[in-house]
Amino acid sequence: MRIPLHAPAIDEKAVSNVISVLESGEIKGGGKFDAECARFLENRFDTPQAMMTTSCTHSLEMAALLLEIGPRDSVVVPSYTFTSTATAFALFGADIKFCDVDPDTLNMNPEALRECITDDTAAVVPVHYGGVACDMDEITDIANDYGALVVEDAAQALNATYKGEALGTIGDIGCFSFHGTKSYVAGEGGAIFLNDESFVDRAEKIRQKGTNYEAFRRGEVDHYTWVDIGSSYVPSELQTALARAQLERLDEIKAAQKHVHDLYVSELRALEDAGLLELPTIPPFAESNCHLFPVLTRTESEREALVTKLREDGIGAASHYEPLHTSPYGREYGYEEGDLPITESIASRILRLPIHTHMTDADVASVADCIYEFYEREESAPDKID
Ligand SMILES: *Cc1c(COP(=O)(O)O)cnc(C)c1O
Repeated sequence: MRIPLHAPAIDEKAVSNVISVLESGEIKGGGKFDAECARFLENRFDTPQAMMTTSCTHSLEMAALLLEIGPRDSVVVPSYTFTSTATAFALFGADIKFCDVDPDTLNMNPEALRECITDDTAAVVPVHYGGVACDMDEITDIANDYGALVVEDAAQALNATYKGEALGTIGDIGCFSFHGTKSYVAGEGGAIFLNDESFVDRAEKIRQKGTNYEAFRRGEVDHYTWVDIGSSYVPSELQTALARAQLERLDEIKAAQKHVHDLYVSELRALEDAGLLELPTIPPFAESNCHLFPVLTRTESEREALVTKLREDGIGAASHYEPLHTSPYGREYGYEEGDLPITESIASRILRLPIHTHMTDADVASVADCIYEFYEREESAPDKID
């Protein structure tokens, strides 16, 4: 691809951090970079305790373990999301309730949440799609009414805010991804924010295979042993070395992506005004990290044709999530096509345009040119202003 959909922002610091770990021989997890990343995240985003993990999926699993999710619980997730949001809770037997999304932000719709939350709901898991905040006040109020906790799937939302507060710090627990396709990368990797301090002690043990290894390391006990359930959620020092370098560039990467985002908006607005293409909506309460640039076509066949045209031109455009409620496994929770009309409509029309730090203004213009060319045959097609 001439202009790929994603491209990680790897700098010399990232390379030298990773080399320093390789040279030291201390490649297992839980070392200097692991601690540095966690303290950086706590200071920067104002959460009592952050921990680095092997992935956002695993952060969500840690959340399920901390909330002691079991077969008697239901967990509400949007249908328009990655599988991890649901499977992390399905793994422990939860009944998954799929919630429809807002047609503008593609985020969990509070009205729809009200319809699917019940007294059995143990957790509500809003996803901040593309780094754009969900309506957290509404979602939190509804969850509180039912005694459910809020776990933010902030996989895409590091360094974005809701009413000035960092995403991932608003719910009881926040889960982040450093996957290679996200805006801040560690290859594979994640983080968890424990916004309620009462989770910290168990989270330390769950992350360390059910042992009190962290207490041992602090010199609080003279040996470590098996004290709780848990798993292996500590990332390698190679991953946190990379993440550490990314954390130093949070604002630089965000600014570069915002620049691309804003250019797309000014280039493509005439197509939106002509009713041909819908551009992303960022509500006034949200400050986005501009992780994605999703647009909506009028129909699925138009989306397919536009993706094909962009790819032929060397532009890495792509659709996104297939609704979970109509996926082969999602249907086992009792859903069928037609149950979540907004999710189904959006999933069939969404198209992501490339957005990353390596894009030049000319690249953005070139993507826009290709899209204008596609719509040329339409009667209402506007001329592109250069
Ligand atoms: C990427 C992503 C995940 C999974 O992240 P990993 O770190 O790959 O496990 C979960 N939820 C959402 C919304 C994502 O975008």
